Amino acid sequence: GHSVNVFNRSLLDELDAMLTKLESNSVLNGVAFFSAKPKVFIAGADLHELQPLRDAERIREVAKRGQMLFERLRALPFPTVALIHGAALGGGAEFALACSFRIASRDKATRIGFPETQLGILPAWGGCTHLPRLIGQAAALKLILSGKPVSAEKARRIHLVDRTCPEQHLERLGRELLATGLPKHARPRDTRFPLRTVVSQTALKQIRKKSGGHYPALPEVIAVIQTGLRSGIPSGLEAEQNALVRLMHSVAFPHLVDLFFLQEAAKKSRVTESKLANISHCAVIGAGCMGAGIAQWVSARGKRVTLRDLDAEAIGRGLGTVHHLYSSAQKRHILSSIQSRCGQDRVHATLCQTLPPHTGLVIEAATERLDIKQALFAELEANTPAETILATNTSSLRLKEIGTKMEHPSQLLGLHFFNPVSRMPLVEVVHSPDSDPERTDRLLRFVQEIGKTPVLVLDSPGFVVNRILIPYLMTAGYLLDHGADPVVLDRVMTEWGMPMGPVALMDQIGLAVCGHVLGSFATWKPERFTVPPLLEWINQDPDRAAKGFYRRHKGKVTPRNLLSEHRTSSRYAALGGEQARDWMLAVLLQEALLVRNEGLVATPGEVDLAMVMGTGFAPFLGGPLCVGDRMGWQRVLETLEDLAEQEPLFIPEGTLRQFASTGAKAYDDTERRAA
Ligand code: NAD
Repeated sequence: GHSVNVFNRSLLDELDAMLTKLESNSVLNGVAFFSAKPKVFIAGADLHELQPLRDAERIREVAKRGQMLFERLRALPFPTVALIHGAALGGGAEFALACSFRIASRDKATRIGFPETQLGILPAWGGCTHLPRLIGQAAALKLILSGKPVSAEKARRIHLVDRTCPEQHLERLGRELLATGLPKHARPRDTRFPLRTVVSQTALKQIRKKSGGHYPALPEVIAVIQTGLRSGIPSGLEAEQNALVRLMHSVAFPHLVDLFFLQEAAKKSRVTESKLANISHCAVIGAGCMGAGIAQWVSARGKRVTLRDLDAEAIGRGLGTVHHLYSSAQKRHILSSIQSRCGQDRVHATLCQTLPPHTGLVIEAATERLDIKQALFAELEANTPAETILATNTSSLRLKEIGTKMEHPSQLLGLHFFNPVSRMPLVEVVHSPDSDPERTDRLLRFVQEIGKTPVLVLDSPGFVVNRILIPYLMTAGYLLDHGADPVVLDRVMTEWGMPMGPVALMDQIGLAVCGHVLGSFATWKPERFTVPPLLEWINQDPDRAAKGFYRRHKGKVTPRNLLSEHRTSSRYAALGGEQARDWMLAVLLQEALLVRNEGLVATPGEVDLAMVMGTGFAPFLGGPLCVGDRMGWQRVLETLEDLAEQEPLFIPEGTLRQFASTGAKAYDDTERRAA
């Protein structure tokens, strides 16, 4: 009855009964396992059953049950083979690991891996104990710590599967393998002492650097694998159980599972399976960094793209970027050389205004200037068929303003990709109360079809992500302007869990863009937003702006001198890191609360999802609204009041005061368990 196979209680019971039958069967020569579901082998354990478990004994039991069943599968008196077509993830991959052989179909849908660490836990049905014995310790660590599944071909290269073949040959090959068997597998060298200790220590160093200690699952994986290799399989399995109990009680686990559910919901939201976007040809207007990135991503997902610009040089650079993105996807084995070649062939560049008549969607990614976008959409509306969807990728302008020169401004929608397009999974789909719901649904579906996660947002300055991010960056700019050390601001925020500090982030976005977006916010609400004088001064000279706050030379990053000379004051030269962090965070959390209260998205979960996926906001804390609810809005208010004493721009808003005084939460109890 489910669309995917997951190991819930009833499936485990069924497996138990089936193993009992098989154990007493003396006529079988072998058994093959395959899925009757179209594109999934087994997607893993049922997270809906797992997430609510709190009792340590219950958690241990769940781990033990899976382990015992899989050990029984391993001990059957005849060979077994897993015929994998589609996703074999987590518990599904551990099940395959317990079979004597594994054959994977060379289909794009076939992905094998252990995503548990992305949920804050670890493979605890024998995965940590048996995987290193099969593929080696270094390869097992890489697979489990990254949490990223691999293709059939990659799985064969690392010996995770024994054979690959087209889907239709799985059964025949399975029968052959059961009949002939394979030469006995020698235990990989790096699982033996002293090599295994070296491998563990190297991995430990790497994860410390990367995760900043916020993801306890990572060191647990390394320790459990070590125990299994040093002390044998039963000790390894027991270590898996103990680690699972600890990790399911960590702060990260419920938040990461919630985010997973939110992401799954966003991928399916509002649109039924049968409804397709029906867009096979897109036009992208503007071949700059965003336009080229969008053209590459969309063409790689099978759509034809017309990439249009005014400037021949920009077209040349844009096509260069498309080529570079394809080459790098090929280098990282994301695309084959044929897929890369075909994808590039689907991009057609032009200086000509006329678009092909069958263009289903126009994505405008031209220069961020209101007059340019207004003129463009008036022209596009006049020259494209009525059913073509017109969408803008603007980051700071409102649909309402951009559409003023259109005959039917309500036809205009927003499709806000993030930079770099190839890495950022989120797309904000922007609509207004007058938008045609059918068009909006088609656009949502389009985003789902190209493999991005859509969040539906109402038209408003900065939509959700920039609306919340920009005030936070403004606060960092304000502190810098009054003498704060950029290195301290960045360090405290990365230590807290942000992927990058605010000053480094401003450099990455570009100081000109930051100034521009902040300028739009200041026009919208001058009492709440302003461009810090230091940023304004930097932006007076485009070269200065292009250089950014930091100098990067031979891998060394140092703040530029310009800061000390042109600051308004040195009031915060000795500002404590914690104080700065609390102020910057309070501004961000208040803005998230305002977004939630203004109803820009349907649920608080979408605010958190958008911030985690659009900015990398500390996923293990669940997103800003989760953080605010846990911390208490009263504390956020007090911190902001403290900041407002220094600078009236930060006087807290009525919404925050109301939440603080009533003790209300951004999530009500039924909306999200972890909050
Ligand atoms: P860009 O300056 O790199 O490129 C803009 C391109 O548009 C230029 O090649 C220019 O020649 C072209 N152009 C200008 N007017 C045109 C017209 N009338 N017809 C066709 N082409 C025209 O800009 P970008 O950074 O790629 O940003 C494009 C859009 O995406 C902006 O609206 C921006 O706000 C938005 N955006 C940018 C980022 C980012 O980080 N850069 C992130 C999200 C969204």
